[in-house]
Amino acid sequence: MQEKNNRTKILIADDEALIRQDIKEILEEAGYEVVAEAKDGYHALELAKLTVPDLMVLDIKMPNINGLEAAEEIQIALNKRIPTVILTAYNQPELIQKAGDVGAFSFLTKPVKPQDLIASIETAKHRAKEMEGLHQDISDLKEKLEIRKLVERAKGIIMKSHSIDEPAAMHHLQKISMDDRIPIKTVAEKIIAENKK
Ligand SMILES: [Mg+2]
Repeated sequence: MQEKNNRTKILIADDEALIRQDIKEILEEAGYEVVAEAKDGYHALELAKLTVPDLMVLDIKMPNINGLEAAEEIQIALNKRIPTVILTAYNQPELIQKAGDVGAFSFLTKPVKPQDLIASIETAKHRAKEMEGLHQDISDLKEKLEIRKLVERAKGIIMKSHSIDEPAAMHHLQKISMDDRIPIKTVAEKIIAENKK
C-alpha cells in the first residue's frame, strides 16, 4: 500500500459490474480509497453528492447520463473541480475535445491496465492543479485591471478638483495611501464615493 495515496477518495462509475470490480481492486491495491461505485451516470451523481470524492474514474458509455455529462453535472452540483479519468472503449477526438471544455480530465482506453490507470489518475490530478493555477492568474489579472480602472477614475477627480496634472494627482493618491497605510485601491474607492455625494 502506498501511504501517500491513502487519503484520495475515489468514485468509480461503469455500467459493467466486472469492470467496476477490476478497477476497484487496482485502486485499492495501489492504496487509494474507493468511496463509491456507481452503475450509471445518474447513480454517480447521487453517490458523489453523498461521498464528495477527490477524484473520479468514469466510463464514457453508460445508460442515462454518460461519463462526460456526469463529470460536468457532479462538478456543478458539488461546486468543485474534481480530477476525472474517463474510460473509453475507443478513441474519439470530438469527445476528447468536448471533455477538454469541461475540466480536468485524462483518458484511458479499456481494457484497463493497472499501471496505465495509476498514470491517468496522476495526469488528471496534475491537470486539475494546473487549471487551478490558471484560474488564479486570471483573477489576479482581473483584480489588477480593476485597481487600475479605479485609480484612473480617482486621478481624474483629483485633477479636476485640485487643478493639477496627472503625475501630481497620482502622487497625491500615493501619498494618502502611504500616510494612511491603506491600499491605493481603497483610497481610489473613497475618492470616487466622495465625489458621488
Ligand atoms: Mg459502458
